[in-house]
Amino acid sequence: MKVLLNDEILERNEAKVDIEDRGYQFGDGVYEVVNIYDGVPFTLKEHIARLYRSAKEIGILLNEQPEQLCNRLLELIKANNMTNGGLYLQISRGVFNRTHHYDQTLTPQLVAYPLPYKSVQDAQTNGVEAITAEDLRWLRCDIKSLNLLYNIMVKQKASEAGAFESILIRDGIVTEGSSSNIFIVKDGILRTHPANNLILNGITRRKLLEIMDANGWDYKIQPFHKEELMEADEVFLTSTTSEVMPIIKIDGVTFSQAKPGPYTSKFQAAFREAVKSETKT
Ligand code: PMP
Repeated sequence: MKVLLNDEILERNEAKVDIEDRGYQFGDGVYEVVNIYDGVPFTLKEHIARLYRSAKEIGILLNEQPEQLCNRLLELIKANNMTNGGLYLQISRGVFNRTHHYDQTLTPQLVAYPLPYKSVQDAQTNGVEAITAEDLRWLRCDIKSLNLLYNIMVKQKASEAGAFESILIRDGIVTEGSSSNIFIVKDGILRTHPANNLILNGITRRKLLEIMDANGWDYKIQPFHKEELMEADEVFLTSTTSEVMPIIKIDGVTFSQAKPGPYTSKFQAAFREAVKSETKT
């Protein structure tokens, strides 16, 4: 596997980071995961724009233009002969002697490499289970920070319960999943949490809303309560790696149909169409 480490493409075992890299010590950095379909990175520009926004929000200033970074990532995809899978990239603030505060002159450290392809086809066809958990994260969930401690804790809880995802609840309101955005359908209307500081504005979420607009399908950007989640006609999550993923059971309670509902299936199909047309070479 070839890895992009700052300006160099190296073999994985040659790519080394410093023990005083602040990403390693503090989680002081930002990241993205991009899906690759037939060698083409889907919504790469949008992911890189979000990366730059996240970096800016925590005071990491990147000298390279986003377009240049995109080109280097395309080279990495080629160097790895990637067809399907993911691309992970992270930027840490840089290397510094261990103090909480930092010097403004640090050089940000970039690492990018391919993630293996994992099929989500069966899960998308059959639906997955979720559990709910309290949202105890900080109040800047709009930043895609390397610091994922609470997300990890609740994802592990889901995994140990045999579930796919933890749905997070803050003050009775459903915010998002530990690594996904959450949608409900009630009486034919799609609903999801507003893109504010309490959630990460998912690229998949945005793409789906774009598709909704293009088709004239109704939706509401409005917070909803845990009770509304449990009483929804359909629930699904979105993320880069899961696309549109039906949730058929929450906290052990099965939705009446126990299979992906008609709206979710329609959105899945529309999303797949968008991927197909935007990754055509
Ligand atoms: N929320 C959180 C907390 C996430 O980690 C992710 C996955 N990156 C998402 C939402 C979904 O974002 P995207 O569609 O851009 O993958």
